[in-house]
Formats: sequence, structure tokens, C-alpha cells
Amino acid sequence: MFEAARTILKQLFLKPATNKFPAKYAPASTIGFLDSVAKGELKMVPPVTVPPGFRGKIALNKAKCTGCRLCIEVCPTGAIEFIPEEKKVKIFVSRCCFCAQCVEICPPKVLSMTEEFLLASYDKYADELVVVDSGELPGAEKEPDAGAVEKPAEQS
Ligand code: SF4
Ligand code: SF4
Repeated sequence: MFEAARTILKQLFLKPATNKFPAKYAPASTIGFLDSVAKGELKMVPPVTVPPGFRGKIALNKAKCTGCRLCIEVCPTGAIEFIPEEKKVKIFVSRCCFCAQCVEICPPKVLSMTEEFLLASYDKYADELVVVDSGELPGAEKEPDAGAVEKPAEQS
């Protein structure tokens, strides 16, 4: 009895173990809350920061994809489909198990796992859950400027 009371008292002064997300207090309607966030009327409490190496929603730099299909070969869930007319791929996030095997094997390194993890949706084919082109990937090496001329070393 004494031990239980001591534990309860201790808990009262501990920092909460959970994150106040998406709002400080549970909204009456989550959809209404998200609509208000979209309109800029309310602000979402930021989600937790993810650890290094986190495997979130996949990103694809379409322009640099060579259409080699190696990612399709290794994907264990059939999440990647080939677009024959464009010779590019598209990825269905709803089927992805976040294994990152496609990222590892992609020769030009045009796939990447982002930190995005809020992926719940009523529609598994919603635009945000079908990755077609994410543009330049963060941290990707820039291509050398073709017009740049290397400066010769100064003679002493
Ligand atoms: S991360 Fe894994 S499951 Fe997801 S698309 Fe890549 S290979 Fe497929
Ligand atoms: S492995 Fe990379 S380059 Fe090859 S098809 Fe997949 S995304 Fe494109």
C-alpha cells in the first residue's frame, strides 16, 4: 500500500512519456482539426524527432531514374511498378514495408527513405501515397557544373 502510494506520487512529478500530438488536448474531431490546420487556423504540435537512419516514406528523384528496374526485383512487397511509356517507376507507399532494399540497390542512388511517417489515409491510392517524383533528394550530391573550368595551380 505504502509502495503504491509512493509510486503514484512519483508519477505525478515525472515528465509525460508520450508526445502531445497532434494537439495539446485531444480535439473533438480529428478531421475538423486537420482541416483547421490546413486553413492555417490552428497549429499542429510537431511530432517527435526521428532518430538517425529512420526509414520513413520513400522518395524518388524521377529525373535521374534510369529505369533499370533493379528496385522492382528486390522489393519484397511489390510496392514498385514500372511505367513503360516513361521508363520510370512509381512506388505505392501503402504496400511498402520500409525495408530500404530498393534504396540500397539503386545504382544512381535516386531513392531515399525520408523522415516522414504520418502516412495514415482513408485512400491508399491518394496522391501523397503514390510516389512518382519527389524532386532532388536531400543530401544528394550536386552534378558538376559542365561550364565550370578548373583553375590551374599557381606556379611559384
Ligand atoms: S522500402 Fe522495401 S518495401 Fe518499400 S518500396 Fe523499397 S524495397 Fe519495396
Ligand atoms: S533501381 Fe533506381 S534507377 Fe533503377 S528503376 Fe529503380 S529507382 Fe530507377
